[in-house]
Amino acid sequence: MPFSALGLSPALLAALRERAYTSPTPIQAAAIPAVLQGRDVLGSAQTGSGKTLAFALPLLQQLAQAPAATPRRARALVLVPTRELAAQVGEEFRHLAQQLGAPLRVTVAFGGVSINPQLMGLRGGTDIVVATPGRLLDLIDHNGLTLAGVQVLVLDEADRLLDLGFAEELARIRALLPARRQNLFFSATFPPAVQALAQTLLQDPLRIDVLPAAQDQPDIVQRVITVDAGRRTQLLRQLIAQHGWRRVLVFVATKHAAEIVADKLRKAGLQAEPFHGELSQGKRTQVLADFKAERLSVVVATDVAARGLDIAELPVVVNYDLPRSPSDYTHRIGRTGRAGASGLAVSLVSAGTEAHFRLIEKRQGLQLPREQVPGFEPVDSAPAAAPGTGGVKGKRPSKKDKLRAAAARQP
Ligand code: ADP
Ligand code: MG
Repeated sequence: MPFSALGLSPALLAALRERAYTSPTPIQAAAIPAVLQGRDVLGSAQTGSGKTLAFALPLLQQLAQAPAATPRRARALVLVPTRELAAQVGEEFRHLAQQLGAPLRVTVAFGGVSINPQLMGLRGGTDIVVATPGRLLDLIDHNGLTLAGVQVLVLDEADRLLDLGFAEELARIRALLPARRQNLFFSATFPPAVQALAQTLLQDPLRIDVLPAAQDQPDIVQRVITVDAGRRTQLLRQLIAQHGWRRVLVFVATKHAAEIVADKLRKAGLQAEPFHGELSQGKRTQVLADFKAERLSVVVATDVAARGLDIAELPVVVNYDLPRSPSDYTHRIGRTGRAGASGLAVSLVSAGTEAHFRLIEKRQGLQLPREQVPGFEPVDSAPAAAPGTGGVKGKRPSKKDKLRAAAARQP
């Protein structure tokens, strides 16, 4: 099916030709006509399958065709869970709006950077706001923005935005939105509980579940290597050297682990940097830009990098620590194998995390062979750490563990 069969305007079709996109992905083919008709959509499709354009194209078309409100105020709100994703999705909207030649203003707002330029940018109004929830509320509190004119609400990575971590902010935002609006929720994963919640927020939604045909499956080879927790960094170094991996995204469980593992890799001569929520936004932006430009070969990240980020030609993702949930596993490994490319996802499993990984496999409907690397055969048998925590030093008790043990000794 060509893009032209979806009801998109000639200007958007020209923009797509310029990008040399020959045909819509399945989620785009299903969602674009529905969004243009004004329907609510709950759209689920695998990582890297073009969900951004599935909502961005029809949204831009709707707004370009309707005259801006006077005074100009936001007509579309796109919420995303992380700053880097706000920048990426906002960039996509800006670029397309420019190609469209439509006088649409796109505002990108996220925390960690000064709010003043964002407030200045909102003077004179805006049409589309792409934001993280916290900063959006800050802008509203500063009278920089009103949501009273929003006609379309998009939740990208909707299951993440609807989970507990964002509950308070989302409730505040919802209270400020007009009750009558179009709602578009997208993600690669919708756990049952979130699905039930999403259904209560949507009106007669079109449910799109792109069950990937074999040829559309993200082409991600998943491998599992068993290794003692304390030897993972060394193994990682060996794997990088042995396979000549030029770019690797390594996931760990904590900010602290990100720092330590990146530091060890750097000391071993690799261009490695940590990426987590406690770094300055300037540093976060720099690390991601350096990684995309291949100035860095390894980024050691927490789950703040697990959602939505589109890094072209990222061949390898490593789960140094296992993700907490099966959904997180899907999103983490989905940073590779995007837009039809192939990728490799390697999970390091130790005695202490084997049971947790089995649970992930079960929920994913997977059963992966356990591999060993010569020289790194595991010898630990007792569980070394609670699942998902994966202490960097293996069995060394953390400060928290010591405090807990001390508290337990109190009468
Ligand atoms: P998702 O949100 O589903 O994880 P993205 O929207 O980030 O995926 O898109 C992944 C990549 O695929 C992006 O680099 C995007 O530019 C590209 N892409 C999107 N639509 C198409 C298409 N129709 N044809 C080819 N590439 C596409
Ligand atoms: Mg996405």
